[in-house]
Amino acid sequence: MDERYICYCGLYCENCAVKARIQPKAKALYEDMKAAGFENVIHLLPGGSGFWPFLKDTAEKGTCVSCKEGSGRPDCGIRICAKEKGIKMCALCESYPCNRFTEFLKNYPQLEKDNALLREQGLEAWSKLQDERRTQGFVHQDAKK
Ligand code: SF4
Ligand code: SF4
Repeated sequence: MDERYICYCGLYCENCAVKARIQPKAKALYEDMKAAGFENVIHLLPGGSGFWPFLKDTAEKGTCVSCKEGSGRPDCGIRICAKEKGIKMCALCESYPCNRFTEFLKNYPQLEKDNALLREQGLEAWSKLQDERRTQGFVHQDAKK
């Protein structure tokens, strides 16, 4: 568990499809294409000039740092509120689940249980669950399918 990646809402950045799947796949694609010599010819292909810097940046720098460092929607009301209140995770807030979670929980069905686990059994149990998911290759977006 890397605490830098704990999100206010109860998600864990290391178990997000962007970090766990898209960035590694972009890196592999970039390296394969570079090794095949695409860098020298891609500007000749339609859309290639825009695509190559995008792929290179995604592979080398990534598209996302973390929720705590400001990735995700800049206007996320959950993050703004939790930061103002000095709350590390919303599940630990006395107002949880506040109305900001009404719609949000519909998009992340597993989050209700995860946050209940955090409230009832603490951060260690929650962290163990996130680490197990990471090992299994689960990402939060899988729960929507
Ligand atoms: S930006 Fe908001 S929704 Fe996204 S992970 Fe952070 S708290 Fe959750
Ligand atoms: S009121 Fe509490 S639970 Fe709701 S967004 Fe703010 S910190 Fe999170």
